[in-house]
Amino acid sequence: MILKNKRGIVLGLANAHSISWACGEAINNLGGEVIFSYLDDRFLKWVAPLADKINAKYFPLDVSKDSSIDEFFKSVGNIWDSIDFMVHAVAFAKTTDLDGRFIDTSRDGFSIALDISTYSLVATSKRAANLMKSGGSIVTLTYYGSEKVVPNYNVMGVAKSALEASTRYLAADLGPDNIRVNAISAGPINTLSARGITGFSKILHHVAIKAPLRRNVNASEVGNAAAFLVSDLSTGITGETIYVDCGYNIMGV
Ligand code: NAD
Repeated sequence: MILKNKRGIVLGLANAHSISWACGEAINNLGGEVIFSYLDDRFLKWVAPLADKINAKYFPLDVSKDSSIDEFFKSVGNIWDSIDFMVHAVAFAKTTDLDGRFIDTSRDGFSIALDISTYSLVATSKRAANLMKSGGSIVTLTYYGSEKVVPNYNVMGVAKSALEASTRYLAADLGPDNIRVNAISAGPINTLSARGITGFSKILHHVAIKAPLRRNVNASEVGNAAAFLVSDLSTGITGETIYVDCGYNIMGV
C-alpha cells in the first residue's frame, strides 16, 4: 500500500472512461484517498456512483473561473488541512477547432483552449501548493500532438506544448518546497474528450499498428503511472514528460 496516508485531488472526472477515474482508482487501490472535481451538474449522474465506489468526495470546478477554483479549494481545505498530490486531467477546445486546418483557429477558440487546458494547471497548482504543507506531487496529462503534427489535434497540440513547458516552469518554482510537477504523455484512449477530435478512431488504429507493443495503451496503465508519480517511489523525478503510450513516440518510420 505505497499510498497509505497520502491524500489528494483528482481534477476532471466526467465518467467511467475518464483518465481521471483511472487515476483515482489506481491511487485508491494503493491506499490513497481522493477528492474529485467535476465540471457541473450534468456529470453528476456518472460522477456520484463512481466516486461512491471508492468513498471519495466530489466538488464542482469550472477552471475558466477563478471564483470556482477558489470555491473548490475552499471545499477541499474544509475537509483536509493538507494534501499530498494533485492530478490535473482537464482539457477543452471547441469541436470546430479540432477539425480541418490549424490556420483557421479563431482568436476566441485559441484563447479558450489555452485557458482551460493550460492556464488551469498554473491556477490550480498555485492553490494546491498552498495545501501541500509537507511537499507534494502534481501530475498533468498531455499528448504527443504537442511535439508532432497530429491531424485535427490543432490548437490542442499548441495547448499541450504550453502545458509541458508550464510543467517545467512550475517544477522549477515549486521544487524548493519539495513539490514535484510532472506530465504523463498518454497514448490515445477512447474518452469523451478524445471523441471530439475528428478522425480519432484512425489515430487509434494507426498507433496499434506502429507502437512497439502493437496495441493502444489503456486508461488503467495511465492511472498506474500517475499513482507512481504521486508516490514516494518517484521522489527524484520532477519537470519531466513521461510517455505512457506503448512506446509509440520512439518510432521513426
Ligand atoms: P474526459 O473528457 O473524460 O476528461 C476531460 C475533463 O475535462 C472532463 O471531466 C471535462 O468535464 C473537464 N473539463 C472541460 N472543461 C472544463 C472546465 N472549464 N473546468 C473544469 N473541467 C473541465 O477526457 P480524458 O481523455 O480523460 O481527458 C483527461 C486529460 O487527458 C485531458 O487533459 C486530455 O487532454 C488528456 N489526454 C487524453 C488522451 C486521450 O486520448 N483520451 C491522451 C493524452 C492526454
